Amino acid sequence: MRLDIITLFPELLESPFNVSIVKRAKESGLVEIFFHNPRDFSSNKYKQVDDYQYGGGAGMVMMIEPIKKCIDLLKNKRSYKEVIYMTPDGNILTQKIANKLSIDGNLIILCGHYKGVDQRVRDELITMEISIGDYVLSGGELPAAVLCDTIIRLIPGVIGDETSALTDSFQDDMLAPPVYTRPANFENLEVPKVLLSGNKAKIEEWREEKALERTKKLRPDIFN
Ligand code: SAH
Repeated sequence: MRLDIITLFPELLESPFNVSIVKRAKESGLVEIFFHNPRDFSSNKYKQVDDYQYGGGAGMVMMIEPIKKCIDLLKNKRSYKEVIYMTPDGNILTQKIANKLSIDGNLIILCGHYKGVDQRVRDELITMEISIGDYVLSGGELPAAVLCDTIIRLIPGVIGDETSALTDSFQDDMLAPPVYTRPANFENLEVPKVLLSGNKAKIEEWREEKALERTKKLRPDIFN
């Protein structure tokens, strides 16, 4: 899978992709990530990529031309499943969306900045719009990092233990059960006995019960 991220501030995205699971995924060749700066596609001698909004009002708007040139160049080289714009008024990101995108093939991800992008970019070039929640950030870079992380960890082979990603919260419309590690007794705080029993069936049963309990309590909306 190849992820092409269009951003004015690639430095905001460097560390999220250079540690832990995402780093390993890149190193093992399961995912390739590239950054593209609209500035490099500006035909203006000042490398201008944004301008005042028509009709007046505060805030700059990212221009269509550099973005279109960049997307065209990428699409001429290979096929992409989706061209995604990170935007607070998009569809809220869910595990379902991440699951689907993790098996879908190459993606272009556009990060906005300032007031966002010229509406014609969204109308003509974008195939999918994703928000990471009902709040506004300064740019699409952190949302893009969130989206990429959630997709990458689902790519088969990325997480060592194949079942690990599948037993995380939201996979079966359920939250994950509690987890414990050594020591079994820490200042009289004990790990539930069943987990030490070695009885796989009993442990599985306990985990399911706890997952249900937790979902009902914390997220009645998905429990129902
Ligand atoms: N004027 C826009 C907000 C622009 S914020 C509005 O009111 O809807 C600048 C950029 O940050 C956006 O173009 C988008 O790419 C990104 N962004 C901000 N909040 C986001 C969120 N919750 N989810 C995804 N992207 C977001």
